[in-house]
Amino acid sequence: MNQKTSSTHSYYDADIVVVGAGGAGLTAAAAGAEKGARVIIIDKRKPGGSSAMAKGFLAAESPFQKRAMIHTPKDLVYKIAMEYGHLKMDPRIVRAFVNKSGDTAGWLEKMGITVGHVSPSYIDQEPLTWHIVDGGGDRVITQLKRYCAELGVQILPRTEAKNISHHKGRITGVTVIKGGLESVIRTNSVILATGGYGGNKELLKKYCSIYHDGMPCIGVPNMGDGVVMATSLGAATEGLGVLQLAGPFYPERTPIMINGKEIIMPLAAIGFEPNIVWVNKKGERFIDETVGGDHFESAYAVVRQPDMVAFIIADSGIIQTMEAQGLIAGQGKYKEIQRRGMPGLPQAIRSVVHNGRTLVSESWDEIASWMGAEPQTLKNTIEEYNACCDQGYDPIFAKERQFLIPLRTPPYYAMKGDIRFLGTIGGIKINHHMEVIDLQGYPIPGLFAAGVDTGGWTGDNYCGKLPGTTFGFALNSGRIAGENAAIFVLKGASKA
Ligand SMILES: Cc1cc2nc3c(=O)[nH]c(=O)nc-3n(C[C@H](O)[C@H](O)[C@H](O)COP(=O)(O)OP(=O)(O)OC[C@H]3O[C@@H](n4cnc5c(N)ncnc54)[C@H](O)[C@@H]3O)c2cc1C
Repeated sequence: MNQKTSSTHSYYDADIVVVGAGGAGLTAAAAGAEKGARVIIIDKRKPGGSSAMAKGFLAAESPFQKRAMIHTPKDLVYKIAMEYGHLKMDPRIVRAFVNKSGDTAGWLEKMGITVGHVSPSYIDQEPLTWHIVDGGGDRVITQLKRYCAELGVQILPRTEAKNISHHKGRITGVTVIKGGLESVIRTNSVILATGGYGGNKELLKKYCSIYHDGMPCIGVPNMGDGVVMATSLGAATEGLGVLQLAGPFYPERTPIMINGKEIIMPLAAIGFEPNIVWVNKKGERFIDETVGGDHFESAYAVVRQPDMVAFIIADSGIIQTMEAQGLIAGQGKYKEIQRRGMPGLPQAIRSVVHNGRTLVSESWDEIASWMGAEPQTLKNTIEEYNACCDQGYDPIFAKERQFLIPLRTPPYYAMKGDIRFLGTIGGIKINHHMEVIDLQGYPIPGLFAAGVDTGGWTGDNYCGKLPGTTFGFALNSGRIAGENAAIFVLKGASKA
């Protein structure tokens, strides 16, 4: 791994080059180095990617679950994943991911990563898969970097991969740019883990029919470099066009005191509570709002509305109940708020009124005008909803009786929610060894890919029924890719 220089270039040598140091890249680098390979990992930013923003990862039959007596059989998780994706995935990839996940959780624990709880993401969710990490994804990244350094992995931040060179069907190196200077890392094996194309408007428009310019990506704006480099080497694609959607997303955050401790609360959580009401720009309800418990799936209901907007509506009674009792729906990290009260919530909402996304008013007429709806349409909607609440039955969308709470106590609250996405999923076609597959269906020797750069392991969104899926896949596919790349370069035993 020594750096050498010639008149035009610097050269590095490595057995394996990992491109992208998010969850997938760092696990790949560590796993490759554990098997004895000399590994260089590069990142065009600092290591972390969107992985650093995650709350928790999926695992089945992990040590954390076993100690907490949580029963989450691998077979069940595998079957739910396949069913969610309408079988339009590669079952061997899904199986490899799920089977590895419990072991990977233990592997991470040995690096000093602790899990606060294994959380549902909505009411009564089963089985429990979402391992909420103390310190979140950021802590996972820190510990993985430390472990990589211990194993002798060379980590090159602010180093961008531009091109993979090859000769007679063999990979020969990666051209990188660091500080404006071009270098070549000579290697016979590359693992691509560049985190998708959530920041690349051109690719988003090409592959995602629902994407529009006003739809923000809340993850790291990765540019699709992995997909571009793989396809230029003849890789096939799979699953392009999948966005990790969430909505209706109300983006305000405000400090709230919980048990004497101030936390910065994303008010988005209010929008996913089952006892609120959603209306579109016309002032019409459009679905049973309890679907917001899985706020990835509920996004599709919002996508169908004019301008992909939904207003989150509540009266003072509902907001005061939330203030007194906290959230009902699970939101992982915000477990402390669940059913425990959020003192000062009405004032917190009022404190963000100036941003133009929120209105608190005594009058539905004023709220309707602000939304751009016909006042009579909104008033009819509220009247109809209140009648459903009075009779304890929603004949329109069959919302569960316990969440039918009438909106009668002013002031009323209206919060504008839209669609956001955490990033993209899919792109490079792989097999269950994380080998990149060419257009004829064969592995490209020495080329591997992991994380959300790849397709074939999920359906057409983040699988909210198995929370932790994307971060979990990044960690596990990376680990499998690293093991197999090491076997490839060191000509070792059978594939992992
Ligand atoms: C706010 C938020 C919360 C989330 N919470 C969860 C959660 O709780 N559970 C869950 O399962 N998922 C969650 N996700 C999604 C999940 O974090 C990601 O889908 C997953 O971690 C992606 O991992 P990755 O390694 O594939 O990509 P990333 O973590 O994005 O890493 C890709 C890396 O590649 C680098 N890179 C890109 N191009 C190049 C190049 N040419 N050269 C060198 N480096 C390059 C980037 O700089 C980046 O660091 C969340 C996402 C967000 C935004």
